[in-house]
Amino acid sequence: MRKPIIAGNWKMYKSFEEACQFVEAVREQIPSEDKVDAVICAPTLYLPTLVDIASETDLAIGAQNMHYENEGAFTGEISPSQLSSINVDYVILGHSERREYFNETDEAVNKKVAAALLAGIVPIICCGETLEERESGNTEQKVSGQIKAALNGFSAEEVEHMVIAYEPIWAIGTGKTATADDANQVCGAIRQVVEELFGKDCAEKIRIQYGGSVKPENIEELLSKEHIDGALVGGASLQVESYLALVTKA
Ligand code: 13P
Repeated sequence: MRKPIIAGNWKMYKSFEEACQFVEAVREQIPSEDKVDAVICAPTLYLPTLVDIASETDLAIGAQNMHYENEGAFTGEISPSQLSSINVDYVILGHSERREYFNETDEAVNKKVAAALLAGIVPIICCGETLEERESGNTEQKVSGQIKAALNGFSAEEVEHMVIAYEPIWAIGTGKTATADDANQVCGAIRQVVEELFGKDCAEKIRIQYGGSVKPENIEELLSKEHIDGALVGGASLQVESYLALVTKA
């Protein structure tokens, strides 16, 4: 019922030339938008060009971060209205790397989600636990706290169009994937939180991705699970062949 969404997160990788070549190589081979939402979240600097190259195709382009104000004296920042002015469709918010290295808080993520909605950009809201939190049995508590904070103040009609990405921090870039059952259990717990806050209909519509060492070899098993509606992919989104394999298998 929920359309799968596969989003590549390129992080701080690729030269301008490599980025353009990638999008030129994949754009005609992306399965139809009716079947899967395929997204590439690229470095901000490349966004206008990549949006151009991907226009009129089934590939959508996203950003990896943004500020929550639309303008102001915020040296080095990019605003939601600036992103929407170049037709960016998605933005990753609250990635664990931003929370860890750039002090992004739950409150800031909540403000950014509100700003994304106003700008007409779909937020991909990230959550996830550390290895220590998992081992001490605090996974669901951590993740539901992050999600409650991020979704605070919105209506069910707004929330149902958002995307949540569950990314256990210990599985990012480590080659260690959560088992499909473990990932499904946490995604199910997230859906339960959404149901408690916004009702069953909203919980059934919102899409929840898994992220953390997703690759063509494990995507099918992950997506076969009830609560996993897609993937947020780092490393395996950097090569044309593996990205195409992921979106095709979805
Ligand atoms: P990897 O797929 O490289 O583990 O990265 C996951 C991630 O952080 C995507 O946002």
